Amino acid sequence: MNQRDYYEVLGVSKNANENELKKAYRQQALKYHPDKNPGDKQAENKFKEASEAYDVLKDFEKRQIYDQFGHEGLKGRGFSGFSGFDDIFSQFGDIFGDFFGGGGQQRTGADLRLDISITFQEAAFGIKKNVEVNKHHPCGTCEGSGTKPGYSPRPCRTCRGTGQVIRAQGFFSVQSTCPNCHGAGQIITHPCAECHGDGRVIINKKLSINIPAGVDDGSRIRLRGEGELGAQGLPPGDLYVMTHVSAHKFFHREGHDIHCRMNLTFSQAALGAKIQVPLLNEGETKIISVPAGVQTNDTHRISDAGIPQLRGHRRGNQVIHFVVETPKRLNKRQKELFKELAEIEGNPIKETLKGFFQKLGV
Ligand SMILES: [Zn+2]
Ligand SMILES: [Zn+2]
Repeated sequence: MNQRDYYEVLGVSKNANENELKKAYRQQALKYHPDKNPGDKQAENKFKEASEAYDVLKDFEKRQIYDQFGHEGLKGRGFSGFSGFDDIFSQFGDIFGDFFGGGGQQRTGADLRLDISITFQEAAFGIKKNVEVNKHHPCGTCEGSGTKPGYSPRPCRTCRGTGQVIRAQGFFSVQSTCPNCHGAGQIITHPCAECHGDGRVIINKKLSINIPAGVDDGSRIRLRGEGELGAQGLPPGDLYVMTHVSAHKFFHREGHDIHCRMNLTFSQAALGAKIQVPLLNEGETKIISVPAGVQTNDTHRISDAGIPQLRGHRRGNQVIHFVVETPKRLNKRQKELFKELAEIEGNPIKETLKGFFQKLGV
């Protein structure tokens, strides 16, 4: 029988590392998996071939023998090369487990999400928030075993304590979780009264969360290990706190800068003025000089008065947008002055329109 080179089968180089092998095998296995190619003998063979190649190359000893002596070398040392399907499917847990679980990390309990509403100021300067999270906790009565104290569980007869059953599906054997014990491998005959055999109880955990200065709407704060309890002794997941920042009546935020509007009267804009501007720090103000001749949409920047940066010690800027207001209700004296001003400017105000409408009888 002419066997193909294992490296060629997986499409990797002779010095491929563990991750490269895993990745290559994963691709092949997903492509040629019998579930995806029912009845396709060629796909089945490719799948078998890739599994065999991976089985050898992932094993340090087998790979060394193969590298030196090839297929014959493995056979000579009692390695069949292909160790059977049961093995492949147990391998699948590894391969596809971290494939779908993300990044080859250790599997943990579920992550939890908590939404928290804070004010604009709290987001800017940070705050400590006390919250409550409902989550599982090992049962104190049975110490997480699920069995009434004084009793012990008996091994599951269906799976003989392994938690897994293997059943034939056509050419393949498929390993799956035992339906009798749900993978635990044992049956609780006397469930704990507190947790009803689950080994976990739901508790209301109080947490104090430090929300750092500078968070924004939709920021995510990760609290390691504060997520859901992992099953069968796996470490707990993480808690993600999502911040929702309410709008401010005076400021709005763009990145680390805060923006606000300041109205100026005609005369302030024309002559220049000193005005008092509210700052982000509650109750604080600053006097700024507005230059003569300022226009609507002109801006003034107060540096280091914006939102603190999450990392680092700097703050953004406060940007003031000026709006020149046209006066609405003028008293007699103001009117006289504006008319006089108009005359000096060479555009005397004639009340011709008033006369025109009177003639029309409007
Ligand atoms: Zn219990
Ligand atoms: Zn079982």
